[in-house]
Amino acid sequence: MSITKVTLQSPIEEKIAWAEVFYRKFGENLLKDKTITLLLYKLKNAISVSRKEMEAIGITDICRECEQLDGGSCCGAGLENKYNGSLILINLLLNVKLPKKRYNPESCLFLGKTGCSLMSRHVICVNYVCKKITDRIDPRKIISLREKEGEELNTLFLLHERINSCQVKG
Ligand code: SF4
Ligand code: SF4
Repeated sequence: MSITKVTLQSPIEEKIAWAEVFYRKFGENLLKDKTITLLLYKLKNAISVSRKEMEAIGITDICRECEQLDGGSCCGAGLENKYNGSLILINLLLNVKLPKKRYNPESCLFLGKTGCSLMSRHVICVNYVCKKITDRIDPRKIISLREKEGEELNTLFLLHERINSCQVKG
């Protein structure tokens, strides 16, 4: 499989375009790989477990309140530049619909009307907790969440490796 690669420094629009073209051309082939489908399945489950834990320990409510009252502040414009083409491709493999334009000029491109539009997020986004959260949530609960997020991030790493090895072989 080959296609002109983008780098981490490429503009986000080029990374998205690269991922969309790659997905259209080779997505079906990637999804025929049993290791990739298994890892996508495990990743979806791990993300679901992490999100449920965030709800269970009260982070989701704090963030909802923050977004409603203070407009949220952690998903600022520019954070989308942390994403590389492969992570955007993984979201396409997870059937995520990517936003076509920025919902709020001051926010990350991936922030939509109802929150982050991505299913699989960068480690920076997964690990971020602000003071509003650390002030209100028992640190032991945050440690327990971290363990679940660790599973999500490990699986994501393995998936990246597998997709990269398929691209090299192809
Ligand atoms: S992480 Fe902090 S700043 Fe971001 S939405 Fe949640 S409470 Fe607000
Ligand atoms: S969580 Fe989503 S919307 Fe927020 S900075 Fe990360 S990618 Fe952007």
